[in-house]
Amino acid sequence: MASDIAGETSLLLDREDVPPVHEFNAAGASPFLLTCDHYGRLLPKRLGALGLPERELVRHIAWDIGIAGVAERLATWCDAHLIVQRYSRLLIDCNRPPGAVSAIPRLSEATVIPGNQRLSREAVEMRRREIFDPYHHRIDAIIDQRLNERRPTVLVALHSFTPVYAGVSRPWHIGTLYHRDSTLPPLLLKALRAEGDLVVGDNEPYAVSDLTDYTIPVHGEARGLINSGIEIRQDLIADQSGQRQWAERLARVLSGIGSHLRAQRLI
Ligand SMILES: [Zn+2]
Repeated sequence: MASDIAGETSLLLDREDVPPVHEFNAAGASPFLLTCDHYGRLLPKRLGALGLPERELVRHIAWDIGIAGVAERLATWCDAHLIVQRYSRLLIDCNRPPGAVSAIPRLSEATVIPGNQRLSREAVEMRRREIFDPYHHRIDAIIDQRLNERRPTVLVALHSFTPVYAGVSRPWHIGTLYHRDSTLPPLLLKALRAEGDLVVGDNEPYAVSDLTDYTIPVHGEARGLINSGIEIRQDLIADQSGQRQWAERLARVLSGIGSHLRAQRLI
């Protein structure tokens, strides 16, 4: 059987599991290309629950709570292409360099992940090959296509953060996260602060680095794209009403920034 040829066999996902990559509004005309590394919290049937109870699998350690509902609406309202990864970051974190210790966390915040202890090299490779690679290859291919077509492309990586981490409360409603891009993050910060009712984090609660991040350094910086990450606090987008409000706000903010970038001939 062709599917049993060594190297081509799916060892992780079986035919009942959905593919990791999902896309929305692929024909969108917006210059903004949206990604969502921590969109979903699915686990392959073959791996069960990684030894965790359900209450852990719905927490922020498994995914970015609320961001899926924001990202999908934002893609629609901005007419932007959105590429997401549907499996839990406990399986493999799609925003970590694959060699990083935290790529397949054995401990997340204070939770030991039983199914991630003492993994063989093959088991680690399998997660990379079946989850991480398809997602990042797809983003790469879409960026190639857009650049070949000379379409303006601004990368925005969407995330959400837990309001309390390791016992410490976080005051920000929203934050930009970036490293080398000096175009989009200041525009985002200015526009978000001008909203008047937001506590805006400048590289808070996280900053991007080559050692701890993947999407921004690899698809944004290395490709020469204007880029930024956006982090929204999870309690603000826990329900559909919050997701709608934040998507509406971000659609308005990004639309203004898009006009500015065009007027300045930056895209
Ligand atoms: Zn995230």
